[in-house]
Amino acid sequence: MSDRPEIGDWTDPDGLTAVQDARLPETLAAAARSPFYRARGGVPVDRAGLAALPFTTKADLRDAYPFGLLAVDRRRLATYHESSGTTGTPTSSYYTEHDWLDLAERYARKWVGIRDTDTFLVRTPYALMITGHLAQAAARMRGATVVPADNRSTAMPYARVVRVLRDLRVTLTWSMPTDTLFWAAAAHAAGLEPARDFPALRALFVGGEPLGPARRARIARLWNTTVVEEYGATECGSLAGECPAGRLHLWADRAIFEVRDPVTGHAAPAGRGHLVVTPLYREAMPLLRYDTEDLVEVSDEPCACGWALPAVRVLGRGAAGHRVAGVTVTPGDLEELVLALPGVLFWRARALPDRLVVELEADRSAADALAGAIRSRYGVPADVTALPPGGLVPHHVLTAAPDVVKPRALFGPDEDWARALSYY
Ligand SMILES: [Zn+2]
Repeated sequence: MSDRPEIGDWTDPDGLTAVQDARLPETLAAAARSPFYRARGGVPVDRAGLAALPFTTKADLRDAYPFGLLAVDRRRLATYHESSGTTGTPTSSYYTEHDWLDLAERYARKWVGIRDTDTFLVRTPYALMITGHLAQAAARMRGATVVPADNRSTAMPYARVVRVLRDLRVTLTWSMPTDTLFWAAAAHAAGLEPARDFPALRALFVGGEPLGPARRARIARLWNTTVVEEYGATECGSLAGECPAGRLHLWADRAIFEVRDPVTGHAAPAGRGHLVVTPLYREAMPLLRYDTEDLVEVSDEPCACGWALPAVRVLGRGAAGHRVAGVTVTPGDLEELVLALPGVLFWRARALPDRLVVELEADRSAADALAGAIRSRYGVPADVTALPPGGLVPHHVLTAAPDVVKPRALFGPDEDWARALSYY
């Protein structure tokens, strides 16, 4: 039996606070062993002290690279990760075997369940990031068969994903939402119909980018299956998951969440701002009031599912959008307009000072309809170009299945030594 709470162990928000308070002393004791928090002048002993503590920022994590936050003997570390930063300086995170129990349990909280009868395709990166390993650990903990497909690996092009999905009768997948659109296009390119030819598929687990209602509906319909959203970060693991009523809930029994107003710096339990996290079950790298810099909206209104966990809407870092002719165009909003058109999978847009330029793989009438929708929604001019299939995502990207070989140096007289020392 685990001492970590599960959904359903309590049913009211007060019970949730009690769950957090019971765990907090151990969390603070772990942080007191961290060189980073010691150098900051120590760690508080109670919740009031925690609320007065400065936020831990992404810059703090970068400055502490690689092991400035290590709070256990390094021999106890099970895995080391880095997040996909854009700044060049990596952000490290590391976990013990014990930390991994909490990580895997949080990810495994999928309302559709993960079972020993499932075949689970993990299609997120394994290199340095946590996401692939997280899904793998959760699936294995529940007894499922893992197919480690990876992402950003030349060994697993889209055509191979489609083959595996079908031949292995994969029941669950984990990927970015966008990736499932590529699989659908690759299935079509292979002469298959995603909604019909993959009947074993029980659910698509998706995360890693904001998911608007139109795209969610498009994906669910394309594949004729359930889409289950997940939200997390390499520094924290899974932070929120979807309930049967279709909303994301924060795992507030495993972490304390706050929302920080990026302008005033004021933190509150709900509202709109940066999500701030204090994970309650970690020993290798304790974090107190970690500002994820993800823009979210947290609500403590009750949800139809009955979970006593706050609901969250993830707006993402690019949610602010761009100005076009005096009007703000956000990616989520524009996507709703594009995906209102039937059949569109791939599009791109550019916000110019005086107009919006959009290209999409669709026919002329769809492009005209979109230009009209943009004008009536925003009141700004739009140049919308219809491209033929393959205009944005070339056919060979969907069909290629190159052999990946081991590099070697010695070749026979009839072999092509242009392949020497290469993986292709
Ligand atoms: Zn709910």
